[in-house]
Amino acid sequence: MMGLYSIRMRGAEGGPHEKGGRHISGAERIVEEQELETVASSLIQRALHHSKGKSDFINIRIDAVSENDITYVDCLAIEEHQTTSLESSHTLAKDILFSVVSHSAVEKAFTELGALPDNMRGAILMDAETGNRLDDHHMRGVRVSHMDAIGNAQESMNTHMREALVLATKVQSCFGIVGELCWSDDPDYTVGYVACNGVYHRIPHMKELGNPIGGRVFFVKANENSKEIVDYLENTTVLVRW
Ligand code: AMP
Repeated sequence: MMGLYSIRMRGAEGGPHEKGGRHISGAERIVEEQELETVASSLIQRALHHSKGKSDFINIRIDAVSENDITYVDCLAIEEHQTTSLESSHTLAKDILFSVVSHSAVEKAFTELGALPDNMRGAILMDAETGNRLDDHHMRGVRVSHMDAIGNAQESMNTHMREALVLATKVQSCFGIVGELCWSDDPDYTVGYVACNGVYHRIPHMKELGNPIGGRVFFVKANENSKEIVDYLENTTVLVRW
């Protein structure tokens, strides 16, 4: 086997992110050397043709990954839910989260995501008991990185879902994390999810069609070391087995 590489892309409009550019698209893969060029070109396509706009800044970074540094985890089980309105979707998502997160923290998570003035780059880290925010990165949040899947996913799975499942599986594999709430920032994509107890609950109508603001909340058990959690989420290389 040839070596594995982490390849990460971020695109923004109006200049680089760090100079105030608006984030358009970000994606990453972990692939073998001979796949790098094909994957790089598909990542460039994504940065240029996104429903949020056209990137005028694109950064692609490639790093070799040592096999010894990889953690393998099994993919979450998938449960597909059918709902007909935003209200019934939010009620269902809350009911699922109540099994692992306090009522006040769940309510706070929905309020915070609903009130975001713009898209965060990452996720809110929240105490599952008190609802207090544990990360101090404001609009940056905690950015999960260094993950991909190996093996073949279901044929029917779209890119959105594949990437969300990989991210959610890495997040749920982290010590101290008990649940996640997410909806997309893609204005055309209203499906969201809740992950907890080893299950990815896919829920339609989590936001209004056309809404360009999405978000994520990771719920953390009380008294866990949030620095170590952030380090795992941002830096540990995880490969998900389908
Ligand atoms: P997406 O599912 O890509 O549309 O992202 C929805 C929201 O989740 C974004 O607006 C970010 O706030 C957050 N998000 C996206 N990617 C990540 C990531 N890699 N780690 C943490 N949060 C993310």
